[in-house]
Amino acid sequence: MTQTTTALIIGGGGTGVGTARDLALRGVDVTLVERGELASETSGSSHGLLHSGARYAESDPEGAAECIRENETLRDIAGHCIHDTGGLFVQLKQDDPEYFDTKLEACREHGIDAEVIDGDEARNRVPDLSENVERAMVVPDGAIYPSRLAAANAESAAEHGATIHTNAPVTEITVTDGEIEHVAIGGEVNTTIEPEYVINATGPWADKIGAMAGVDFAMKPTKGVMLSVEYEDLGPVLNRCREPADGDIIIPHEGEAVLGTTSVEVENPDDYPKEEWEVDRMYEECAEMVPDIEGREELRKWWACRPLYAPDESNRTDSGEGDERSISRDFTLLDHERDGVDNFASVVGGKLTTYRMMAESTADHVAGKLGVDAESITADEQLPGADDPAELDRLVAKYSEPQPTDAGVVADLSGSTAAGD
Ligand SMILES: Cc1cc2nc3c(=O)[nH]c(=O)nc-3n(C[C@H](O)[C@H](O)[C@H](O)COP(=O)(O)OP(=O)(O)OC[C@H]3O[C@@H](n4cnc5c(N)ncnc54)[C@H](O)[C@@H]3O)c2cc1C
Repeated sequence: MTQTTTALIIGGGGTGVGTARDLALRGVDVTLVERGELASETSGSSHGLLHSGARYAESDPEGAAECIRENETLRDIAGHCIHDTGGLFVQLKQDDPEYFDTKLEACREHGIDAEVIDGDEARNRVPDLSENVERAMVVPDGAIYPSRLAAANAESAAEHGATIHTNAPVTEITVTDGEIEHVAIGGEVNTTIEPEYVINATGPWADKIGAMAGVDFAMKPTKGVMLSVEYEDLGPVLNRCREPADGDIIIPHEGEAVLGTTSVEVENPDDYPKEEWEVDRMYEECAEMVPDIEGREELRKWWACRPLYAPDESNRTDSGEGDERSISRDFTLLDHERDGVDNFASVVGGKLTTYRMMAESTADHVAGKLGVDAESITADEQLPGADDPAELDRLVAKYSEPQPTDAGVVADLSGSTAAGD
């Protein structure tokens, strides 16, 4: 059987569900297909930091400005999909004080609130901080719960007429006369969709979907490890104030601290080595900020791959010796009309923090192609269930289940009768 849709979105991570919501709220007929469950890949396995932009303030002012804008927007619309923990950038004795000063100046220049406190005041606020902390910068970082965020976006899209299919992998794309004519969906859905326009939001797999449509571009995924350890009342997000390196962020959750991460290029996002030294390094590095981390019981560990777009290599400044952090975290919208497929675009790169903004830009582009006049309203409309954690967790059970990033926070109702109705 063949179904028709105006906009077919492939991929149910933050980018895909955000785009589905944005287009559906503009009145566009949307279908989203996800091969697994919503947020079951990168989005639900990220570190879960709601960036204030401070991390990028001195190196990527544009990215930092986007982060603080979206950070404030999500505080308005996303309710219990985020947690306003606040954040500290801590300078240890061995860290370069000039780096701290440069970041502070850049934060203030780009509208990121940043207050400096001395080491004693920092330890007052976070008693377990190392005696080596000399000073800290207080910034509006927070935590994101991606399972809730993805489910609430999907529910909003569905309330506005979108069809959301999980366990629905794209298996084949047929291009006829420079347009995608058919997209074959396997899994439980097992159908063929005839779309007017196709948006590829498959993160690190975007090049594989491109190849199915005969479009050639390259992703450069980098893996990162995260580790959740038992920890009560850590307080704010803790960032090491130094050039980005392994194990320099700790995210507080109820009863847990999530340590991360690394950045190492991999060939295949479906099959890459997951090594114990990476986990050991998280303990070692994070214990420099909070010595009491050492020896804490491991609750979960997981890996994910950043959906980085290879041509952004021009932005790289590394020596080629394995530091992949300088590949741009910005997002890119590729209109494949230039590759000979008129009704096809891919959205790659970015951060979970800026998913809504990426989705808005993508939807602007698609609306233009479809001749739809309506503008984005996703920055002003609250997500469904945002004020009620129990309702958000019910939505998670409807579309997915708690993912590694937020399994310690989101209730697992997948076995209950509340699910799937
Ligand atoms: C280690 C790590 C830590 C990170 N930490 C943070 C952080 O703290 N804060 C932050 O803001 N950002 C963070 N990020 C970045 C952020 O997680 C990603 O940029 C974002 O989640 C990407 O979302 P996405 O929707 O583009 O990709 P994904 O979430 O990967 O979604 C793509 C989806 O496409 C689906 N798909 C693939 N192939 C097919 C197919 N054939 N058919 C149907 N569906 C398919 C996949 O199953 C997947 O669900 C981190 C990333 C990594 C790797």
